[in-house]
Amino acid sequence: MGSQEVSSTVDWQGKHVTVAGLGVSGIPAARALHERGALVTVVNDGDDERARAQAAELEALGITVRLGDGATLPPSTELVVTAPGWQPDKPLFLAAAEAGVPVWGDVELAWRLRGDDGRAPAPWLAVTGTNGKTTTVRMLASILEAAGLRTAAVGNIGVSLLDAVLGETEYDVLAVELSSYQLHWAPSLRAHSAAVLNLAPDHLDWHGSMAAYAADKGRVYEGNTVACVYNAADPATEDLVREADVEEGCRAIGFTLGAPGPSQLGVVDGILVDRAFVANRQKQAQELAEVTDVNPPAPHNIANALAAAALARAFGVEPAAVRDGLRAFRPDAHRIEHVADVGEVAYVDDSKATNTHATEASLAAYDSIVWIAGGLAKGATFDELVTGAAKRLRGVVLIGADRALIHEALTRHAPEVPVVDLDRTDTGAMSEAVARAAGLARPGDTVLLAPACASMDMFTNYNKRGEAFADAVRARADESA
Ligand code: ADP
Repeated sequence: MGSQEVSSTVDWQGKHVTVAGLGVSGIPAARALHERGALVTVVNDGDDERARAQAAELEALGITVRLGDGATLPPSTELVVTAPGWQPDKPLFLAAAEAGVPVWGDVELAWRLRGDDGRAPAPWLAVTGTNGKTTTVRMLASILEAAGLRTAAVGNIGVSLLDAVLGETEYDVLAVELSSYQLHWAPSLRAHSAAVLNLAPDHLDWHGSMAAYAADKGRVYEGNTVACVYNAADPATEDLVREADVEEGCRAIGFTLGAPGPSQLGVVDGILVDRAFVANRQKQAQELAEVTDVNPPAPHNIANALAAAALARAFGVEPAAVRDGLRAFRPDAHRIEHVADVGEVAYVDDSKATNTHATEASLAAYDSIVWIAGGLAKGATFDELVTGAAKRLRGVVLIGADRALIHEALTRHAPEVPVVDLDRTDTGAMSEAVARAAGLARPGDTVLLAPACASMDMFTNYNKRGEAFADAVRARADESA
């Protein structure tokens, strides 16, 4: 299916559309479709006070809302538009499949509605992967801005896709973060170029298997026109490129932390270089930026920067803008965020490392670490993580519900590393964790909060967990000042 054909051909007038899920994507979707003349019914599992208030607002516009039953497909439905998180085996989708009714996610809807007001739609540069999506998309937007392009980082971050596509602001190009859920429900998405950063088991309960998860990630490459960007250190990402059906002339572009081969971006002597978008890639490489221009210059973050640079270069951005954009980039909070140095020990908050793959990258960035970890393991195992990091661990402080799982892995693979096991989950727990970590640290060490677990057993979310850590560190810094 061509990228431009669909939006203009959908006649929404009188079309019966069921929107699954009130929420950040469902409400704007329902409104947008209603404005286009569709007969919209929103179905929602929950029936609490908040849902009722939201329902009342939509009903005032003439939209039908059915609370407390997200399972039954309204009989006249011609299309279902779903919130991306809804699991594919829900009865609603089984009923839709049986009735031959298509199901679109929020991304598919945004893709189909782009340009339906007559404006030329902005191309999408898309990023997915298990970890590093938000960082890479923000880096990419920063580079595109440095090149003087009108752009925004959209998707799970910042502006919603639907707003970016339908809003007043005009864009030359969009930097789009896409989750595996969103890709699952986006069959006709065709990006200009796309990157899969890495692939590690995550969300397998939702997708059903690693193969299904990978296949959904791989959809991001379908129909790319200029470049499919893969991680040379993660062959599974290259496999997805090979399997994708792309436009004629679209190239596979790798990124690597080592010296790049032809059609790759990589690193030579502390310089990020491009051997893909140059006139003679057999012999030539173009300097883009220095490793120290990447903020912070941890290995996995340099990989993110290379992926962002590859997408920008695929879009025709000049090397100087890559450098300026990377220099201007500031990471989001709680992502390897340096909080303070206290007594020659660095304190780093990577509360966003909520799975073992992210934590592995984080632990690889420092030589001697007191590691604060634990929380909800979500079915993960920790043997590989601990084995890989054992030599760099000065000590470990464990918190949270599933800390015993990490403790057992430490006992098996790093029995010499001292472990403090904190058996408390009250508000003072993080403060004690930081104090105990400080007790284990020596000058030159890094105390790293990289929990490898979700936070909800002790905190509202990873932000709150990171803030609790930073507050405790700053209190120590003030005391020692
Ligand atoms: P996402 O949007 O995919 O969740 P983020 O950019 O928010 O990714 O980063 C989440 C966490 O993943 C970070 O805290 C960091 O520890 C880790 N991370 C970031 N980039 C990478 C990468 N390229 N490989 C592995 N882990 C990474």
